[in-house]
Amino acid sequence: MHLLLHAAVAAVVRPAARARMHATRSRVRACQSPVTVYSQSLDEVLERLQQKPYRMKQIRQWVYECGVTDFQEMTNLPKALQAKLLQEVATSSMEVATEQESRDGTRKRLLRLHDGQLIESVLMPYSDNRRTACISSQVGCAMGCTFCATGQMGFKRDLSADEIFEQAAVFSSELTRQGERLSNVVFMGMGEPFRNYDNVFEAASRIVGTLGVGARHVTISTVGVAPVVRQFADDCVANNLQLGLAISLHAASDAARGAIMPVNRRHDLHELMEACLYYTTVTGRRISFEWALIAGENDGEEQARELGQLLRPLKGRAHVNLIPLNPTRGFPGQPTGVAAARSFVDMLAHFGVPGTVRVRRGIDIDAGCGQLADEASKVEVERKAERKAAADPTEDPAHAVYE
Ligand code: SF4
Repeated sequence: MHLLLHAAVAAVVRPAARARMHATRSRVRACQSPVTVYSQSLDEVLERLQQKPYRMKQIRQWVYECGVTDFQEMTNLPKALQAKLLQEVATSSMEVATEQESRDGTRKRLLRLHDGQLIESVLMPYSDNRRTACISSQVGCAMGCTFCATGQMGFKRDLSADEIFEQAAVFSSELTRQGERLSNVVFMGMGEPFRNYDNVFEAASRIVGTLGVGARHVTISTVGVAPVVRQFADDCVANNLQLGLAISLHAASDAARGAIMPVNRRHDLHELMEACLYYTTVTGRRISFEWALIAGENDGEEQARELGQLLRPLKGRAHVNLIPLNPTRGFPGQPTGVAAARSFVDMLAHFGVPGTVRVRRGIDIDAGCGQLADEASKVEVERKAERKAAADPTEDPAHAVYE
């Protein structure tokens, strides 16, 4: 079933998107990411090994329907082929550097990529059986949002479509082995997905087509790269993919938003809202707006009124997710209390804009975007400084860390 869906998605990807995908694959090869059981280019390896197409189908069944990624456990493959594949194909292109599990069951992973870069992915279990993966699209981020640990790290590189897809696929395989299934995927990890749009769109298409996650349960979150919001609307329609869109808003005036989100200086709220109206008109879908509630900053009556007025033109196709701030090093804000969050929702309702206060997940394990990688980077800097100081005892490692 999954294989059929995969073929169907491949068939509907429109020519422009397909051309971009070829360019993407060239970039993937250029950065020499290893071929894995999850790679799009696995079929090329099998072709080179002069295997019949049904071998690819068998491998995909093991990986995506049974959660088996070890070739030696794929019992319907000849031993000789297993041996060749073990030489040429890796089980994964990334290793788990650390994993933390929260009291609420949220599992957060720090993943080391083939070139040593670090990213994060998170799996969140819910009591209604949903299993949501939150995945990264870039190493670091160039957008510079002041409240975000990833933004404070700076940009390192884009992830390839394979690397993005693999984060969700690994969770999917693990859940399958436990008799569960991955139900939702959100692109809310490290990076700005619309700054790595082609790879993100290709990975999202494969998550739907290969992992069997419903397109409506795959949500791409952006800080508001307005021209790409329009392109995303067009591509969703052209490819008949009803992917979800979330916009990180956090402030409803240009002055306030520009102060915490530099993207607003390039694409202001007027331009962003025009693009959002285009998206809702073209796709017929609603948009989720993310609002991190920061005590005393953006949780008052005036901000609620501004937000209500901003979203009213979307005519019921807007929903606000209110998330008490996840505090990060370097940003002094504190989360809003429960009572103030509820009254913010009530004020929004006067404008016909529904809002929901979301529970912060994994708060005891730094599950906010970039926090784990930020912590790991700091530890690596500390270790480097300690090694350097050991070589040169006149240098103070503590000073090297904090300079
Ligand atoms: S919030 Fe998102 S876009 Fe902004 S710096 Fe963090 S990762 Fe980048």
